[in-house]
Amino acid sequence: MKFYSTKDRTKTVSLEYAVLRGLADDCGLFMPVNIPQLPKQFFSESRKMSFQEIAYRVAKNFFQPTLAFKDFAARFMSQLMSYFVRNSDKELTILVATSGDTGSAVAHGFYNIPGIKVIILYPSKKVSLLQEKQIATLDGNITVLEIRGTFDDCQRLVKQAFMDPDLQNKLWLTSANSINIARLIPQSFYYFYAFSKIEDSGKSVVFSVPSGNFGNLTGGILAKKMGLPVDKFVAATNANDVIPKYLSSGRFHPQPSRRTISNAMDVGNPSNWARILELFDNDLQKIRQEIFAVSVSEEQTRETMNHVFQQYSYIMDPHTAVGYLGLIKYLSETQNQTCGISLSTAHPAKFKDIVEKITGQSITLPERLATCLKKKNRSIVLSKEFAGFKEFLFETVR
Ligand SMILES: *Cc1c(COP(=O)(O)O)cnc(C)c1O
Repeated sequence: MKFYSTKDRTKTVSLEYAVLRGLADDCGLFMPVNIPQLPKQFFSESRKMSFQEIAYRVAKNFFQPTLAFKDFAARFMSQLMSYFVRNSDKELTILVATSGDTGSAVAHGFYNIPGIKVIILYPSKKVSLLQEKQIATLDGNITVLEIRGTFDDCQRLVKQAFMDPDLQNKLWLTSANSINIARLIPQSFYYFYAFSKIEDSGKSVVFSVPSGNFGNLTGGILAKKMGLPVDKFVAATNANDVIPKYLSSGRFHPQPSRRTISNAMDVGNPSNWARILELFDNDLQKIRQEIFAVSVSEEQTRETMNHVFQQYSYIMDPHTAVGYLGLIKYLSETQNQTCGISLSTAHPAKFKDIVEKITGQSITLPERLATCLKKKNRSIVLSKEFAGFKEFLFETVR
């Protein structure tokens, strides 16, 4: 499989190149030149397959057989990168900006992976204590920078580093954000898996996806293009509503990100939107046909968490609640009778404080999280100025 840049369809590169570069040389995003179709029989056979088997059957269309949401994709990506750098004497440095969950997934997914160094940037005081502990308590090949700024500042620093000729000449840099195609592809697996677990009615389904950078949703659209019978995707955002506004008005206006309780989705300029435009030929009508976008307020998120807990004794984290309410809104507005599947994107314990406050229910931390909390924060504080970040990279990376 070859990959092209969204800025120039004519130049194609290998998967290896796309994964190790992250961003294309012309700053476009990589996309597969064609999306393989799975045979019809795959969908009936998938009912008897394990998750691993489904993932393998989907993945092998993009790669040779290698082989929870962001953790899952990060593990997949770290193994793939480690395989590609195995014969190199230079160290690969991964730069990643995080608003919360990406950072911990990448830190843990790449911890102790040979030949790879990871530098994680997160916005100071804008992630939960637990997220911070998960991101910033590892040592070894993981370096963590606490940036005095917003998530958008972190993302800007990373993008600027990729475009900086001095850094490009001296260092071998790549990204592990959802701009990297290696994270996107595994994010299509669980759509197939979820479908395999529901009763075979011969009907299409609706998937609701709590969205920030829209990588997860892109994974779902990829699955649909491969043949998964999806009637509609619900793109559910929090108050960061650039996409719902775009679908209703036709105007795309990136905004500075706003803080919400579903902070892993506080994204004011979702970078994967370039891929979604690509998948629908830049045609707004087609996008509207496939995607129902909805923005959920803080108040509604709280109400939903509370209501679901009272009604079903199920504890949702705030991100999951945004997706769930998005699905309910879509089904009731359209009277659509198809089966709805809502993606749950985080364990509620990751947002313990707020979840306990809203539901009144106390949550025990899973052991892995409890261990992280006891460790000391190793992050290094930096300003949001590029010059300082660049200097830091030169000093730290060889
Ligand atoms: C990253 C994340 C999302 C949003 O996923 P995108 O691919 O950025 O749209 C939703 N929920 C949680 C918990 C996340 O960590």
